[in-house]
Amino acid sequence: MMYKNTESLQVVKASRIFPFRKEKIARGREKLFAPTEVLDNAVIVAKDGCILEVETWSDFKRRANIKPYQLKDLGDVSLAPSFTNAHCHLELSHLRAEYNLGLVQGQGFVPWVKSLLIAVDQGKGLAQESYKQAISQAIDDLLISYTQAVGDINSGNCLQLSKQLSFVGINAHFFLESFGYGAESIPSFWHDLPKTWTQARTERDVKESLFQASVSGHSLYSCSIENLQKAKALCNVQNSIFSMHLAEHNDELEFLQTGKGALSELLSVRVLPKNFTPPRLSPILLADKLSLLDDKSLAVHCVHCTPSEIALMGERQVFVALCPRSNEFIGVGEVDLLALINSGVALCLGTDSIASNNDLNMLNEINALKKLAQKQKIELPLRTIIRIAALNSAYALGFIKNKKFGLGRLEKAYKFCYSIFENEN
Ligand SMILES: [Zn+2]
Repeated sequence: MMYKNTESLQVVKASRIFPFRKEKIARGREKLFAPTEVLDNAVIVAKDGCILEVETWSDFKRRANIKPYQLKDLGDVSLAPSFTNAHCHLELSHLRAEYNLGLVQGQGFVPWVKSLLIAVDQGKGLAQESYKQAISQAIDDLLISYTQAVGDINSGNCLQLSKQLSFVGINAHFFLESFGYGAESIPSFWHDLPKTWTQARTERDVKESLFQASVSGHSLYSCSIENLQKAKALCNVQNSIFSMHLAEHNDELEFLQTGKGALSELLSVRVLPKNFTPPRLSPILLADKLSLLDDKSLAVHCVHCTPSEIALMGERQVFVALCPRSNEFIGVGEVDLLALINSGVALCLGTDSIASNNDLNMLNEINALKKLAQKQKIELPLRTIIRIAALNSAYALGFIKNKKFGLGRLEKAYKFCYSIFENEN
């Protein structure tokens, strides 16, 4: 059948396209490494920001005649779906390491978080314009690395962020973060959010269809059990994804097992209640006991888990966001990638915040993941990388079939965006 109204078509051509059409969440070695559809000498055909078709150049030529200016020929490259950054904190963008705020690197979590608290305090005096500017720079990192969606941990400014993300058409799932042991567990602005967005939309600078939100928990050590379970219950009611930092560092293990150590000292200053008793469980076993691990949970980091705990997360079908550069920056150790790949968890990729990374560039994050894999004697082909950084990550945040256009695959009715790779021969 011929295309209608060909004058409004946009066509991108490349020597190879990996569309990942109809692919489901890739869990486990077999699915992550399975062969995928490849179209040689092919095009993505789009209209009004939406993909109409992905097909070979010869099939397309039979169905349409277009003007030369409608065709963007990228030559000898591969096109794949664009990425979803599964874990980020855009609100910390003014703490970029290159601003020399004294953020400590490579010494473990507690020294880093102490330096972060000082940097956050310093940042409070920052002019609103400089703050917006820092976020724009962070968004640029996303854009230049083919990132079309972000899972953003947020403590209250998602209106400003959604204005800036709307401007460039990036989707976001805002995780409104519950923190602490007090009774006020659900972030207060959660209830006002629909009103806030409705107002913002009338200002015509927020495209509401790009955004969604759910309540998350910071971690097992920084939130009470009741608060985490309330947040998870709210996500369950809405059928949306719950997220928390999990098993990131050794201090967390020591604290949960014994109630002692450097993290305990830090938390007892402002966060921990006087009558706190440690659960005496590892992070993964505690999270499981609290019913926080299932196929609607995105666990971030998962560096310190035993092989049997990783297998348990696989059984629970958890999404796991890997943040290899953040782990290295803070100095918390490395994930057991082989065990995670084999387990059946759905691996995703995130940059974490700019306060524990050099940038929010997903291509740099992918390179770090590849390097980590090589170190553990695993070769990650492009199709596996895309399944982690695009397909699974879009599934985790619920963008695979979004209100408007889907993300994470290149197929009909999906958003017209893509990543570009040099061909591997
Ligand atoms: Zn984080």
